Amino acid sequence: MNEPHLSPAAISATLRELHEKYLPLREGRLADYIPELSKADPDHFGIAVATVKGEVFEAGNAEDPITLQSVSKPFVYGMALEDLGAEAVHEQVGMEPTGEAFNSIIELEKKTHRPYNPMINAGALAVTNLISGTSPADKLGRILRLFSRYAGHPVHLDGSVFVSERFSGHRNRAIAHLLRHFGRMGPEIDENLDLYFQQCSILFSTKDMALMAATLANGGVQPVTGERVLARPNLRPLLSLMFTCGMYDSSGEWAFHVGLPAKSGVSGGILAVVPGKMGIAVTSPLLDKSGHSVRGHAVFRELAERWGLSLFNGGGEA
Ligand code: GLU
Repeated sequence: MNEPHLSPAAISATLRELHEKYLPLREGRLADYIPELSKADPDHFGIAVATVKGEVFEAGNAEDPITLQSVSKPFVYGMALEDLGAEAVHEQVGMEPTGEAFNSIIELEKKTHRPYNPMINAGALAVTNLISGTSPADKLGRILRLFSRYAGHPVHLDGSVFVSERFSGHRNRAIAHLLRHFGRMGPEIDENLDLYFQQCSILFSTKDMALMAATLANGGVQPVTGERVLARPNLRPLLSLMFTCGMYDSSGEWAFHVGLPAKSGVSGGILAVVPGKMGIAVTSPLLDKSGHSVRGHAVFRELAERWGLSLFNGGGEA
């Protein structure tokens, strides 16, 4: 990095400073509709930056894993793009923001009966249904191998979170049955729901999430291992839908204040991509009304301002 405010020493100092500044921020609530998530430590707080050169900077609990939840959605969408191509994937799922909650069932009933985009639950369930494989175990193995390549090391599931969501995810079950009704899901509804709950239960540290975002910032090549994880033509669909739809029904506000493609999840993870430069991730489980990590949102707004990160700054400093 040529910018002095992005020198290694300056990045490390800023992450430490923001961790200290926002640790006392105890607003928000733990997600409790998946019972296991309500057991999270409210003071878990990790911040990590991974550059496209493979340098990693971190503060707080950046090495402690949490489940990915919806942060998994763009990456499984990327896998479907690799398997089938954008045209086939978008026969089943749209590319428009909804303005409704991530787990809304209402939009499915309207108009085309096609989920609006792959970043909401209905769209993600339709996309998971497209993942190729010879058996449920084979499909899960493919997904775990994909996420291991993004992280740069083997990753695994949190079995308790998976089972907890499997037995409490009635709204997702209803969405899956409605998708089946509209011909957007095959007959293996339960297997497909399990695969979706499993992708949501993959354990990733903040540092792993930053490296996953840095892979997208680096044109699809994991910056530490040097392995290509996503074909270059699939970056644009993925990043554009993260930008317009990745931050729940406050994606517009996020675009206004932060201005980066990003994805948030109910376990408290947020990752964002600064194309050509870096991936940034923050994890902390207390959530605001839109479902974003309160500390995560605060850190991203401040970092975007200080480092001039918005794609609409014309590339200059803030
Ligand atoms: N597994 C969660 C669900 O489907 C993910 C939601 C999220 O992180 O937004 O409800």
